[in-house]
Amino acid sequence: MADQRKFLLDEKDLPTHWYNIQADLPAPLPPIIHPGTGQPIGPQDLAPLFPMELIKQEVSRERWIEIPEPVREVYRMWRPTPLVRAVGLERVLKTPARIYYKWEGVSPPGSHKPNTAVAQAYYNKQEGVRRLATETGAGQWGSALAFACGLFDLECKVYMVRVSYEQKPYRRVMMETWGASVVPSPSRDTNAGRAVLAKDPESPGSLGIAISEAVEDAATRDDTKYSLGSVLSHVLMHQTVIGLEAKKQLELAGERADVLVGCIGGGSNFSGFAFPFVGDKLTGKAPGLRVIAVEPTAAPSLTRGLYVYDFGDTAQTTPLMKMYTLGHGFIPAPIHAGGLRYHGMAPLVCALYDGKVIEAVAVPQNPTFEAAVTFARAEGHLPAPESAHAIRVVIDEALRCRDSGERKTIVFNLSGHGHFDLGAYERYLAGRLEDYEYPAEKVRAALEGLPKIAV
Ligand SMILES: *Cc1c(COP(=O)(O)O)cnc(C)c1O
Repeated sequence: MADQRKFLLDEKDLPTHWYNIQADLPAPLPPIIHPGTGQPIGPQDLAPLFPMELIKQEVSRERWIEIPEPVREVYRMWRPTPLVRAVGLERVLKTPARIYYKWEGVSPPGSHKPNTAVAQAYYNKQEGVRRLATETGAGQWGSALAFACGLFDLECKVYMVRVSYEQKPYRRVMMETWGASVVPSPSRDTNAGRAVLAKDPESPGSLGIAISEAVEDAATRDDTKYSLGSVLSHVLMHQTVIGLEAKKQLELAGERADVLVGCIGGGSNFSGFAFPFVGDKLTGKAPGLRVIAVEPTAAPSLTRGLYVYDFGDTAQTTPLMKMYTLGHGFIPAPIHAGGLRYHGMAPLVCALYDGKVIEAVAVPQNPTFEAAVTFARAEGHLPAPESAHAIRVVIDEALRCRDSGERKTIVFNLSGHGHFDLGAYERYLAGRLEDYEYPAEKVRAALEGLPKIAV
């Protein structure tokens, strides 16, 4: 019989609980610190921005947290997602390795992001919030939240980094179709935006500025809260439906993973995919499992950053988190994987990297697109440029297996499709894509601006 390609679950196999890896960490995460007092923050400090249930989840050490039925009902629009054996890719690589991918591009917005957007919209609605404010860089997070807010009848305001607003108009149209209102950031709607525009009316914007605008919007309106698409522990936990499904599907395939791979921007898709397996590793049930996080050389926070306390945004409005950071003042080069252009990294991912539980690799833009095109020709789907970072490392591992003759099982998360990124594909195919190496000088300058915290 020919090799089976797709491993599918029934709707009844949809996970009933999210997995909280904080229950299995060898030591608790370092606390989140208030920049004014230098002391750990409490729930009340976060209450203007987030609903209480999400604040509780952020610091919870319970292993399993029940997924509310209304959230599962929405998940069933596209979940469980397929696990696919990349038979075509194995063939072109002539590798004895077996390669599988978990395919998150089947969601309506086209990535893993609605796994948390739907949960966040639900809890906000439950607590009487009427409106959510957020930022978006490449447009994927804004799309996911616009979709989720539409389903739970919440207003949604998206501050979209001006360059993306101009370069990716169809992401904006998608958000507006789901009912969100979208403004280019810096905007005239906030003090933070107006201050930037006063200095530079032509400012292209940045994720840092857009976060400041969305946080100000939420903090200054009673009916509005703020929503973040990655980095925070509750966001990563909502994404664990990916890995919980993948584990069941690998059982169906009769496989045991040797290597897991995911790309990292703020860390959410990698964590959602890998944490249920990492939990087994932490509790001694999966010795020898390798787990690899892949970042761009243009924003190499794990491989080149420092593990210190830093702000989550450029404008220094967020609490301080201990993370591998390139410095909050560091603005990554304009690579096409907009979702990976972030100076910091999720504290949970950082703690696991620091503890040598997971590995990290950085890859440049051109080899990443080369991998994307190889994958598209072998497997059909056009991956998001972000996801293609994972594919680059999967291909490299599979080629090593070809040389060594090892029959490893390699599993990766294909976090989204690249249908809104064809401008980037066009540049790559025309040979006009730049590579950005590690910007040592700029990182050194940004790290000099780190807050001084004695923890
Ligand atoms: C946003 C995004 C990423 C990066 O964000 P993480 O929080 O690290 O997952 C990766 N892939 C896709 C498709 C995205 O939309």
